[in-house]
Amino acid sequence: FVNSVEEFFSYCKENEVKFVDFRFTDIKGTWHHVTYTMTAISPDTFKSGIPFDGSSVDAWQPINRSDMVLIPEAETAFLDPFTADSTVIVICDVYDIYKGQMYEKCPRSIAKKAVSHLSESGVGDTAFFGPENEFFVFDDVKIKDDINCASYCVDSEEGGWNDATDYPDGYNTGHRPRTKGGYFPCQPIDSMVDLRAEMVQVLEQVGLEVFVVHHEVAQAQGEIGVKFGTLVEAADNVQKYKYVVRMVAHLNGKTATFMPKPLYGDNGSGMHVHQSIWKDGKNLFYKEGEYANLSDMARYYIGGILAHARSVAAFTNASTNSYKRLIPGFEAPSILTYSSQNRSASCRIPYGSGEKSTRIEMRFPDSTGNPYLAFSAMLMAGLDGIKNKTEPAGPMDEDLFELSLDEIRERGINQMPHTLRGSLEAVIRDNEYLKPVMSKHFIDTYQHYKFETQVWPYEARPTPFEF
Ligand code: GLU
Ligand code: MG
Ligand code: MG
Repeated sequence: FVNSVEEFFSYCKENEVKFVDFRFTDIKGTWHHVTYTMTAISPDTFKSGIPFDGSSVDAWQPINRSDMVLIPEAETAFLDPFTADSTVIVICDVYDIYKGQMYEKCPRSIAKKAVSHLSESGVGDTAFFGPENEFFVFDDVKIKDDINCASYCVDSEEGGWNDATDYPDGYNTGHRPRTKGGYFPCQPIDSMVDLRAEMVQVLEQVGLEVFVVHHEVAQAQGEIGVKFGTLVEAADNVQKYKYVVRMVAHLNGKTATFMPKPLYGDNGSGMHVHQSIWKDGKNLFYKEGEYANLSDMARYYIGGILAHARSVAAFTNASTNSYKRLIPGFEAPSILTYSSQNRSASCRIPYGSGEKSTRIEMRFPDSTGNPYLAFSAMLMAGLDGIKNKTEPAGPMDEDLFELSLDEIRERGINQMPHTLRGSLEAVIRDNEYLKPVMSKHFIDTYQHYKFETQVWPYEARPTPFEF
């Protein structure tokens, strides 16, 4: 919508903008915002920035060094589709006034560093990322307490509310997708058509290019396919996508969640990430005649990600719940190999890839990963693989969900970690590949924060299932 600071002001004038809403992303991937009146903003704001309290954002600044500055990027401006008064949203980076540089804990600044690292490495000039964020839409029910909430998930053998007796009185169970029954029955079984259409409409309003929209395999699960972009652009788009999907659901009296595994016994929600590296307008991942038309570079890139996957997972699968999704039988991977067209592998090479569209699809990530950090970690791991010519295990074209643990061990194939603790411990051991873009201080902060806010509180709680 806007290509410069100058254009920003004419865009605001045209749209009679009353408020400017500045947004930035914290470590865990949550968008924060602070709003200024239009009259308070001048071209200088884009240079001098917006002051804010860095000590009130999780794991950022101590109280005695709390003054921080947001640097808005005019080119990211778009109209907020959900406000009563005309409001323009601008995405920001965080500047550290004490060190006089971009803040080392700002995920978006880390992503920009990763992009520079790609060109400095000489490997390519552009990396494209195409995330697919699946989600569930639930009725906005009030949950009485923790125990009730959890027993809802473990009570039914099938998982979810499959038994008529589980529904509140008078609830119609006729036209409902069964467990794994969401792919792709028509209405009235698919009851989310209009809701998704509304999401698509708003996504297009905020500048995302949508190409497909459908019910996903699980009950109440949906997916909207958005066009890929460069690393930072694609990560910005994930933030916009989550905002729109959650808000449209909310305004319809529903709750959308990107939680990886909300229902026991049904498919979870992933954030598959399609990736390719280009130079001078050429796709470096393509080589005709090789397995799945993949170049050596693409294979080494996969090799790098799979070799570091246990540590990458700390950024791509960033919640305790993430690891409940990575089990055999639900189209989410646990085995670190690659394969063409195979949805049980950690890395799938999509069918029918020509020169322009050849890419890899990493299938283990989910939407609890901060997109800026998740994409950066994969890019850094992939580049490390290219540098060291790391061969990935595979290709393995069979149904990997059928492999026994013994077979997996015999073939020497690595697996994803089974817990967030496992991936955080991996990142403590294996982080050299991240160092060009993430400082030691940032990596320490990240893993401490995740241990404190997720791993320890989660591990300490008895669950209804254990009873
Ligand atoms: N929902 C599956 C997952 O957890 C993926 C289904 C698909 O291939 O789109 O990754
Ligand atoms: Mg999907
Ligand atoms: Mg996919």
